[in-house]
Amino acid sequence: MAGQIESRVSTIAYTLHGNRYLNITSRCTLRCAFCPKFKGSWEVRQYELRLHDEPSVADIVAAAGDPSRYSEIVFCGLGEPTRRLDVLLEVAGWLRKEGASVRVNTDGLANLIHDRDVTPEFAGLVDTVSVSMNAHDESTYNRHCRPRHPQAFFAMLEFCQLVQGHVPEVVMTAIDGLPGVDITACRDIADEIGVTFRRRLLDVVG
Ligand code: SF4
Repeated sequence: MAGQIESRVSTIAYTLHGNRYLNITSRCTLRCAFCPKFKGSWEVRQYELRLHDEPSVADIVAAAGDPSRYSEIVFCGLGEPTRRLDVLLEVAGWLRKEGASVRVNTDGLANLIHDRDVTPEFAGLVDTVSVSMNAHDESTYNRHCRPRHPQAFFAMLEFCQLVQGHVPEVVMTAIDGLPGVDITACRDIADEIGVTFRRRLLDVVG
């Protein structure tokens, strides 16, 4: 059975909550202190998410399966999917042609790492962009997310403002339970930007 095989080898695609999740890279822009991989575990539920080789577009399409079986197809693993923006967009294009609803879970730092505004490239390919805000201010964000780029927090906020002009839905999330994170203040930031806020729970994927 595919699920049993996936649990023993690098998992490119996995199923949770009726959604299909695509794990396209293990590389991150952040080094979040709360991330399981920095605690020595690459496992999410029964799935081993460490990728020893990055999958090709063909690999990802083959692993995705039949998109019509799932509520959403979500780019989300233990790596930042926009690090592989070209691959992400090519797979998203295929998914949309298959009638899938496509979500990208991201750190919101794509413009920073690609050094340009990439948000127009999501238009017509991605239905929902879910951005991990993670904290209500820069110092709390830096403490938990440990970015290499000094402007990361503000770049993330700007990304949220820009991307809402190109996709139907933008969601900002923060994890309730991280020390010092003010969830009400996070919600206020999302409201100010004009996007949806979602409170997440520590160690719950989705
Ligand atoms: S962005 Fe996600 S995968 Fe990357 S270090 Fe942070 S929690 Fe882990």
